[in-house]
Amino acid sequence: MSTLPPCPACASEFTYEDGSMYICPECAHEWPQDGSAEDSSDSRVIKDANGNVLQDGDSVTVIKDLKVKGSSLVVKVGTKVKNIRLVDGDHDIDCKIDGIGAMKLKSEFVKKI
Ligand SMILES: [Zn+2]
Repeated sequence: MSTLPPCPACASEFTYEDGSMYICPECAHEWPQDGSAEDSSDSRVIKDANGNVLQDGDSVTVIKDLKVKGSSLVVKVGTKVKNIRLVDGDHDIDCKIDGIGAMKLKSEFVKKI
């Protein structure tokens, strides 16, 4: 069994094949099997608020006060975040912030240093 790629639209893992297409049952997205869908997580380009391409290991600053889910902590504007890791999903940056710990950020709210 080969592993089917996750849906590029919603990251669902319940993709199934139909002819030469992949279909996502969760959001009804369809895309061709040929092409780079299989490497989508590697070839996906994540950009910061200024349109600069982000990569694993980059340092960024936060451009907007961000509430930390499930706590009263706030990541302030200008907070420096080192050694980010790009991940799939709505919040596409995995990182560790001094004084807060591991959390996820949205690339649209950061700026590459
Ligand atoms: Zn989907």
